Parts: sequence; structure tokens; C-alpha cells
Amino acid sequence: MRKIVFFNIPAYGHTNPTLGVVRELVSRGHTVRYYSYERFRDKIEAVGAEFIACDAYDNQLHLSAEDGAKIGQNLSFSIKVLVRTALALDDAIMQDMLQYKPDCIVADSMALWGKWIAAKLGVPFISSTTTFAFNRYSAQIMPKESGQLWQLLKATIINRTDLKALRRKGYPVRGILSLIQNDNDTNTIVYTSEAFQPCAETFSDKYSFVGAVLDHISLEQKPHKKKLIYISMGTVNHDFPEFYQNCIEAFRNTDYLVVISAGENTDLSAIRDIPRHIRVYASVNQTEILQTADVFLTHCGMNSVSESLYYNVPLVMFPQTNEQKGVAQRTFDIGAGIYLNKTTPEHILQTVETILNNTVYQRNANAIGQTLRESGGARKAADTILQTIK
Ligand code: UDP
Repeated sequence: MRKIVFFNIPAYGHTNPTLGVVRELVSRGHTVRYYSYERFRDKIEAVGAEFIACDAYDNQLHLSAEDGAKIGQNLSFSIKVLVRTALALDDAIMQDMLQYKPDCIVADSMALWGKWIAAKLGVPFISSTTTFAFNRYSAQIMPKESGQLWQLLKATIINRTDLKALRRKGYPVRGILSLIQNDNDTNTIVYTSEAFQPCAETFSDKYSFVGAVLDHISLEQKPHKKKLIYISMGTVNHDFPEFYQNCIEAFRNTDYLVVISAGENTDLSAIRDIPRHIRVYASVNQTEILQTADVFLTHCGMNSVSESLYYNVPLVMFPQTNEQKGVAQRTFDIGAGIYLNKTTPEHILQTVETILNNTVYQRNANAIGQTLRESGGARKAADTILQTIK
């Protein structure tokens, strides 16, 4: 029996794919201790792990709404928050780890502290990557935004003090880039297939592409005959009441069923005059809805796109961040989705109907979905983790 420690950041998209892996490890008789956040306690305990809350230490959880919106958009700021979190977590976690003596550490690619703690303890480390894997080839999929180089330079200058503090704590950090990038020597689980990963051939065999790992219950059959349109902008930046209102107007006089997951931070009372065939929720069981959906209008978070393709659902894509634009580009390249270029009701309806009336998008979604379903999943991820332990 092995003792495996997971670290993660406070985000559904980074937590959800790991749940099936934890369940698999526990079912094989191993012990998993999972450092996460109260919001995820129930999900993590439900798959059999011991849950430890990091809420008190996390800088991201204590940001103003304005600063919170900068996470993922502003490199320099994002790194600062992650590094400050690592520094705050260090004392508490190192004491725990010295007593617990884990056999290996699995950490999300953004939970930088996991990688460093593993290095300090000298235990095997596995990066859990819920986005595409990025190196200088695959990063080309993301649009080059003006000022990116400047941001990196700024990050280097601003974070110099933080880097010094990390080194004082014994973390072998070389520079800003080494904080946020994995190299070809790092054991890395990527929750996508080789077929969907851009430039998969440029990654070493330390990268294990396990496909989509969904903690889901398969529905037996479609409970409705009408076409179902599912709309969600994810769990992080989703406060777009005008956009949801435009979606309602787009489908008001149609025969489709529409489900909108507007997000927990959106004021649902601002969305008016909702007809019976359109349902608006703060949050839904997305993997269940996708099993009966015909098209998904999405912000192109990696998980949302993977889950959609897993269930052969083609996409209308409305990406916001650089990373989401990269995922959208890849989906466009494989012919499983098209972009939403304008948010007027007329254009939303027209774009959704382009997908509904042309089976080629569904066929392409199906083809890549098959690779996401058949790349080994939780079993392969668990094997990858256990193989790192000598
Ligand atoms: N999700 C959900 N219910 C919702 C909306 C989203 O369960 O109403 C889940 C979804 O299944 C996915 C995750 O939240 O696993 C969203 O991750 P993604 O990477 O797509 O986007 P993010 O929320 O991180 O921007």
C-alpha cells in the first residue's frame, strides 16, 4: 500500500479530472491525502481521499473581485499569487509531510508548491496537467498577444523578491519560466489524447496522455426528442448577464430545449422573461447534460471542450482567455467546432444552427471523442503515478 499526496488549486477545472484517478488509486488499496479547498471537500471525500483544507493559506481566495479577474489573464500577477500561496503553505505542509512521509506527490501544474515540496523531500513527483501540455511548439496554438514579452519581463522583475524568499525556504527555483513550465524530464499526466494534444510528438515519453477522465454516470438513453442546446461560460469568469439574455432572445421563438449554466457569481435575477423551454441555472451537472446535448456553446475551458467531445457534442466557441483561445483553435482545426463572432441574438441562432444542420461537425467530434474515451483514462493515470515509486 502506497501513500500518495495530491495538491491542487481552488478550481473545478483543475480538480474534476483528478477525482477519477483518486478513486482508482483508492480502489487498488492505496491511501490518498488531498490538499485542496473547502469548496471541493465533499467531492474529494466522496472518492475516498483524506481531505486537508488549504483555504487559510491561499492568496487567490482572499483577492478582491477585481484582482480575482486578473488570474489567468495577467501572467506577472498570477505568478505572484501562486508564489505567495506557496510561501504561506510551506511551513504547515512541510511539517505535515515530514511526519506523513508520502511515497510520491501529484500536483496540478499550477499548484507550484507540490513540485517544490517533492524536490525538498526527495520523493517522486508527477505533474497533473488539465490543460494541453505546453512547450515552445504547442504554445504556438495560443494567439500572441501584444505585451506578452513585457509581461514576462515584468514578472521577472516584480517577482525577484519572491524568488529570493522561495530559495531561502530551500526551493531549487531557477527563474520565472522554470516556475510555470514543465520540462521533458518531469513525469506528467495530461488529461487529453495524443490525437487532440497539439504537437504531441514533441513531448518525451515522460508525458502520459490519458484521455479525458470524467467522474460521471452514463445515462441509459436520451430523455427528450427535441434538440438540446447547452450554454456555459465555465466556473471562473462567467458573469455575462447580457450575453445570457441574448441567448434567450436567440432561442425564444424556436422549438429547441436550452439549458444555460450562468455560473455561481452571476446575478440570475438580472436575467428576465425566460420562456418555458429555456432553463437558467447557477450550476448544473455538466457531464450529465452533455450526454443528451446536440451542441455546446462554451467559453472553451479545457474540461468543457474535452467533456463535450467525449460525448460527441460539437461546439460553438466563445473563448475569452489566451488559453481558451488555444483550445478553441485546436477544436476548430480538427473541425469539431466553429467560432461565435458576434453576440447578437441573430448571430447566436445562426451559428448554433450551422452546427445543428451540418453533420460533419458531429462526425469530427465523434472521431476525437473516441480518442479521449480510449486513451487509458484513470487506470493509465494511476499506473503512471505508481510507476514513479521505486
Ligand atoms: N461544470 C459543472 N457545472 C457547471 C459548469 C461547469 O459541473 O454548471 C464543470 C465542468 O463539467 C468542468 C468544469 O466545471 O469539469 C469547468 O472547467 P473548464 O476547464 O471547462 O472551465 P473553467 O471553469 O475552469 O473556466
